Amino acid sequence: MTRSVIVLGAGMVGVSTALHLQARGHEVLLVDRKAPGRETSYGNAGLIQREAVEPYPLPHEPAELVQHALRLSPAVSYHLCALPGLMPRLAAYWWASMPSRHARIAKDWATLIAHSTSEHADWIEQAGAQDLVRKKGFHFAWRHAASFREGLAKAQRYHDQYGVQFSALDGEALCAAEPALTQRFAGGVHWTDPWAVNDPGELVARYAALFTARGGRLMRGDASSLKQAGKGWSLITEEGPQQTSDAVVALGPWAEDLILPLGYRLPLFVKRGYHRHYQVPRQLSMPLLCADDGVMLAPMRAGLRITTGAELAPRDAPPSPVQLAMAEKVARRALSLGEPVEAQPWLGARPCTVDMKPVIGAAPRHPGLWFNFGHAHQGFTLGPATGRLFADLFDGKTPYVDATPFLPDRFGS
Ligand SMILES: Cc1cc2nc3c(=O)[nH]c(=O)nc-3n(C[C@H](O)[C@H](O)[C@H](O)COP(=O)(O)OP(=O)(O)OC[C@H]3O[C@@H](n4cnc5c(N)ncnc54)[C@H](O)[C@@H]3O)c2cc1C
Repeated sequence: MTRSVIVLGAGMVGVSTALHLQARGHEVLLVDRKAPGRETSYGNAGLIQREAVEPYPLPHEPAELVQHALRLSPAVSYHLCALPGLMPRLAAYWWASMPSRHARIAKDWATLIAHSTSEHADWIEQAGAQDLVRKKGFHFAWRHAASFREGLAKAQRYHDQYGVQFSALDGEALCAAEPALTQRFAGGVHWTDPWAVNDPGELVARYAALFTARGGRLMRGDASSLKQAGKGWSLITEEGPQQTSDAVVALGPWAEDLILPLGYRLPLFVKRGYHRHYQVPRQLSMPLLCADDGVMLAPMRAGLRITTGAELAPRDAPPSPVQLAMAEKVARRALSLGEPVEAQPWLGARPCTVDMKPVIGAAPRHPGLWFNFGHAHQGFTLGPATGRLFADLFDGKTPYVDATPFLPDRFGS
């Protein structure tokens, strides 16, 4: 049965949700306060990460914890004054990260990741976005022989357990594969399944253009004007008030702003991250993660994009320059880096849950209200795959992967 639905948020997750609902015959209105793909889905490293079969746990190794506590690496940073407020959620994240729990969570997570590239594939064609996507994979590179050995063992486990493809490269082979590198790494891994996008925000914009070309409506508006109206939902947009039977919250790191006043206290938090583009005399042929430091170097249309790991801080706290400055040092060691392209780094926030899984499905206490957010480090990868799962639930169909691990009521709300 055709229903009318507002999708709130036009990042990768919202646009993908809108496309799937539209394909099922629903009348879809996509609303954002900005143009599509201008927030987190713009600023990421552009990877469609078929190899990311396990979500990132909070480390339990004492040496790693000390390294992060002392902020010795750009992989993790934090605002000291934010830690007391974050502690309950970090404690729950730590609990879920215990090896036996993490293994169970990874099993659920991997069911979605398995569909990541295949769910993007048709839309890339249909949106005419082939010029943005390279299907050659990306590199991990390690400075230290010991961490290279560990990384290789993990890659082998991913291959054996999840069928992920990779090739191992010694230092020499990595230099040969990437002549732009000036640093001699101990070795690396070439993940061959993932795809790299050289302008992530533009890919979202092209998907949104596909949605409107197929008759979908796209409007500017503020999600905070959403109200229950009779048996449906109403929202003020720049084109006037709109009314639908259903509404989907796909607001990424802003989801809590909308659902908290409705009484949903879900264990959400953000891991902030920075990027900046740099001119380079010689570009990498594919993205490369400096794996000891958690620094990604991603060739983009705008230059070489350096992205950082996680910063634990309130979403709207002022930027702190330290993490990107450390990442820039790592990059300057790896290759010849010119001037920054932008005057200031970009700052965004990964929308996270304490159990590392997105929240997908019906809001437990409001008929016609739906959730699709919390995709953490891989929302750009997973938008189309979770959009399909969402549409199955919306239509009351048997979901194409088990939806139970992702349902909103798993938190007991
Ligand atoms: C540094 C960094 C690197 C990353 N690298 C990768 C990567 O390589 N691969 C990967 O898969 N993922 C990566 N991620 C994670 C990924 O970017 C996110 O998981 C994903 O973009 C989340 O998408 P979203 O649609 O949920 O959120 P968003 O893209 O943030 O979309 C939310 C939308 O809601 C809108 N909105 C907010 N409030 C309102 C309001 N009140 N009214 C109307 N609209 C509103 C915003 O304007 C925005 O368009 C990275 C993240 C960071 C920070």
